[in-house]
Formats: sequence, structure tokens, C-alpha cells
Amino acid sequence: MCGIVGYVGKNQAPSILIDGLNKLEYRGYDSAGMAVHDGKNINMLKTKGRLSNLIKLLIEHPLKGTLGIGHTRWATHGAPSDINSHPHMSEDHVIAVVHNGIIENYMEIKEELAEKGFHFVSETDTEIIAHLIDSYYKEGLSFEKSVFKAVSRLEGAYALGIICRDCPDTLIAVRKGSPLVVGNGNGENFIASDIPALLNYTREVYFLEEDEIAVLTPDDIKIYDKNENPVKRDIYHVTWDIEAAEKSGYAHFMLKEIHEQPKIVRETILKRVPENGEGIVLDNIKLGKEELDNIDRIYVVACGTAYYAGLIGKHLIEKVCRIPVVSEVASEFRYKDPILDDRTLLIVVSQSGETADTLEALRIAKRSGARVLAVVNAVGSSIAREADDVFYILAGPEIAVASTKAYSAQVAAMYILTCHIAVAIGKMSKDEFKAVKEELYTIPGKIEYILQKESVEKRLAEKYKGVRNVFYIGRGLDYLVSQEGSLKLKEIAYLHSEAYAAGELKHGPIAMIDENTLVVAIAVQEELIEKTISNIKEVKARGAKAMAIAMKGNTKIADVADDVIYIPRTMGLLAPVLANIPNQLFAYYMALNLGTDIDKPRNLAKSVTVE
Ligand code: GLU
Repeated sequence: MCGIVGYVGKNQAPSILIDGLNKLEYRGYDSAGMAVHDGKNINMLKTKGRLSNLIKLLIEHPLKGTLGIGHTRWATHGAPSDINSHPHMSEDHVIAVVHNGIIENYMEIKEELAEKGFHFVSETDTEIIAHLIDSYYKEGLSFEKSVFKAVSRLEGAYALGIICRDCPDTLIAVRKGSPLVVGNGNGENFIASDIPALLNYTREVYFLEEDEIAVLTPDDIKIYDKNENPVKRDIYHVTWDIEAAEKSGYAHFMLKEIHEQPKIVRETILKRVPENGEGIVLDNIKLGKEELDNIDRIYVVACGTAYYAGLIGKHLIEKVCRIPVVSEVASEFRYKDPILDDRTLLIVVSQSGETADTLEALRIAKRSGARVLAVVNAVGSSIAREADDVFYILAGPEIAVASTKAYSAQVAAMYILTCHIAVAIGKMSKDEFKAVKEELYTIPGKIEYILQKESVEKRLAEKYKGVRNVFYIGRGLDYLVSQEGSLKLKEIAYLHSEAYAAGELKHGPIAMIDENTLVVAIAVQEELIEKTISNIKEVKARGAKAMAIAMKGNTKIADVADDVIYIPRTMGLLAPVLANIPNQLFAYYMALNLGTDIDKPRNLAKSVTVE
């Protein structure tokens, strides 16, 4: 799960590669490197650590050339080190490779090559690719043919950028299971793991499909399938702007993205539930009464934050539509032989649309004849392309590794999908829908209101900065919000925290509670508030500090909790998107106090393209 870039053209490659890697560092950041062809030889610089280390190295040892490949790594095979950093080269520096993903059969190929006398210097799976291509090249195949032959041997997930010493004008890109886009410029062409890396140079891109290989020269892009047949692909014109991916004066991308939420949720709602329209606009999503009548099982499958957004969807569909929904994290779903057939609807949720486990869950479902509806942010991503129907959440590029605005837009998508299904199957009357619609329109303004009062969360983060154990508790939808709140704190503040169904706490975890514990109680679902208040009393009686999130007007809770963050009143079913905002802000300010790397938390990466 790394970032790869490549350039072939008339300009100097190193600065273009650095610029691109800069936009991709969110994908991985434990090492960085590049290989540049100077017209005669391939020269390489690579180093452990952030991209800034590579930039320093490049100042000390400048590289020159108009063909090159670059990489920021998120290690899977071999610790982050200078040697394990990418690119990886064949022994005599004929072939250089950057790789995103995992080669599952690398040991087998490594042994085979070792027997033939090839030597390896790194612990990575990637290095075997350079040697394997080189082995075919040495047998007399062309660079292109050697790549085709090598790729036919590789199992696993990979996106590759490859250059050859003897082909100073050729960049080859390969895609299987990991994202890769090809940028079409004027007298220059590009490859990158994600579009922002290209936007300073071109808006014309091709999305490579599975098992495709692109051969780029300064003036030409040829795309082939794995059998070497040329493929015709339409160009995609990127309409969004690079500024959307910059910080706009905020200290962190995360804070900027938190503050973008009113706008994004408003856009998601207005696009699907137009003010002057009658119903819900789902574009090409074919999920009318007829399709729904043919469905007797729904799954919601995703990973991480997207999974927690999916859980809200499960809860709402069950509660409002009265259809049973099974939720499962994708990494479990894919290996448990799930019950799937052509009467199953699988809803997958993914910000990047490249999440490896979720993508595989989608493929398993499709192979069994199930219908797949994807709730995705990244346009043109693998999940979006392979799903039967796509609900784009339109959150724009999310740069901070910890997801905020995508979660809110995913939850808004769940509200809309639930209403759509409920209306279609007659579980929601026109009047009921009208009432929900009117309330939905107030949600963005209410998010704005919570954000204007962020000094509350800032003060509370200061007050509680010494705690080392946090429990998030809640009931019903509040429990689902607790889960996302707890994850946020773990991700960016590196604090041990757990989410527990409030009523379950006494069945074990309460033993851990003492005066150094903070309990964050989400108490927004009013029909359950008395129960949650009792649970707050239980933890208070054992010395814990309690901070609650409640709807305005619930003054009772202030008698038991040490602190209460009030959110504007709304329908219980729509409350999760509001109740989650204080959790985001609290996690952000806790992390700020603790001095962590908020936008790029340790050990994480934005787009998890490994399983
Ligand atoms: N498997 C490769 C490695 O560990 C690539 C990982 C990545 O995608 O960054 O070096």
C-alpha cells in the first residue's frame, strides 16, 4: 500500500517524481526512493524515512534524466530500511522496479532464481520482480516481452512501474489488484497510484483495468491485456481541483476535512434528495421495488471507519425497512464462505474504493451471482468499477489518514439509501419521508453549529490529556458512534481506548475502570438515555471521569457526567452524524496535545491495498 509515480517525457523527471510522491505520501511513508535514467544508465536514490529524507539526498546527489520512477513505501515484506526501500534493481542495473502490493509466490520465484545464480540484497517480495524480468531479458526477449512473461508468473496484488537501461524512452506500468492511473500529457506521459499526483501536469487520465499493462513513451500510450492484445480505453477528464487537496490555512488536513463536513454532507444530501424534487435520485443505481423484491438477504461489508458507517446503515435498514442485514468486516467475510446467491445484496463501503479486503469481498459476492452496491468516494476506483451499482459520496479527496468527512458522507449515504429502500417497499409513507427530508436538510447547519463550538472539545482535551485509558460507551446507534469515536482516538492519539455497548460494560471491562479512566458516553438516543445514565453512574462510582455527548435539553445528564457536550436536537435516527463530530474534534485535540503526527499517524496508511 504505497505510492508509485513514473514519468517519461522531455522535462527533468526528479522534480516531477518528488512532486507526485508528495501528493501520495498519505499512502505510505516509511521510506522513499526513485530511479532516473540519464540517457545511458539508471541511477537510483532511496532511503528509509519520510519523503523529506529523499529530498535531502537528492540535493546532495542530484539525479538527471527525463525518464524515472518513484515510490513511497508502506512495508509489508522486510522492515523499513534503506535496502528494502524501492526502487529495486536487477544485479547489473538493467531493470528498475517500483511496486505497490504483495507478490504471494515470491519465495518460490526467489528460490528458482537463486538456483540460476541470481543474488538478492533485500528482504522484499518486490526485488524478485526486477530479477525475473532481467532473467527473461537476458534470454533475449525484448523489454516489453520480458515484462509480459514475468507478470504471467506473479501471483498476488501489484501495481508496478518499470524501466530498462536499454530503453531510455520507455516506461512500463502493470496493474493487478493495486490502483494505477496513466496520465496523458503533451510530449510527456505519467503513471501514478492516484490522481492528485498528476494534476499539476495533466487532467487526462486512463484508469488501467485488472491485468493490464501500459507501455508509455513521451508521445504514446499503449495499453494491453495480459494476452498482449491491445486494449482501447476511453480517456477520463478530471474535473476537480488540486486546491481541494491543499490545507487552506488549517493546521492539518484532518482539521480542514472536519470543517468541510457541513458542505460535503449538504452536497451529498442535495444531490440525492433535491429540494424541489419528489423523491430520491440515485442516478443509475438499479434498486427499485422489483430488484428489492428479488432480494432476501443483505450484507454490509467494509473495513475500519467505513465499516462503522456501514453499521449505521445496517441498523437503519433493519429498523426502518424491517429487512435483516448482516454486517461483517471484509477481512472476515472473505474467508468465511458466506451464504451468497443471486438473491443477495452486498453493500460495500470504502473511501478509497481500493481497500483490498473489501474489493475481494465484492468479487466473491459477484462470483456467486449476488448484486453489489458500492458506497465509494474515489471516482473510477476498482470497487466503483467492479460493483453493479455505485453510490458516490462526493466527499472530494480525503488526505488525512484518519477518515472524517468520508465517514460523515458515508453515514449520510446510509440515511438516503435507507429512505430509498423504505419508500420503495412501502415501509415509509410519503409524509414520513417528507418529515425525514426536511430534517435531513437541517443536518449540515447543525454540523456547522457543533464546529463553531469546537473550543469545548479543545478545552476538554486539555483537561483530559493525562488519561491513558478511555472507554466509549453507548446504546443502539450511540454504540455504533462510540465505535468510530474510539477508533479515531486510537488512530491519531495512540491512546488505548475501547468501545463498549453501555450495558455490556459490567460483564467484564468494568474491572479495568479506576480513577485514571475516562468514559465517553454517547447518550443521544433519547429512548435509551435513562439506561445510559445508569451506566455512567456505575463507572463514576468506580472512580472514572465521565464525559457525555447529549442532545440539547437533556439537563439530567449534567447531574451525573463531569462534562457534557451538547449537540443540536434532531431525529434519533439522524443523530449519529452529529454525535460523531464532537468525537472527531476531541480526538484531534487530544492528538494535538500529545504531539502525534495527526495527518500521517504511525503505522497507518490511507488506502489499505493489502489484505
Ligand atoms: N511488498 C512491497 C514491500 O514490502 C511493497 C509494499 C508497498 O506496497 O509499499 O516492499
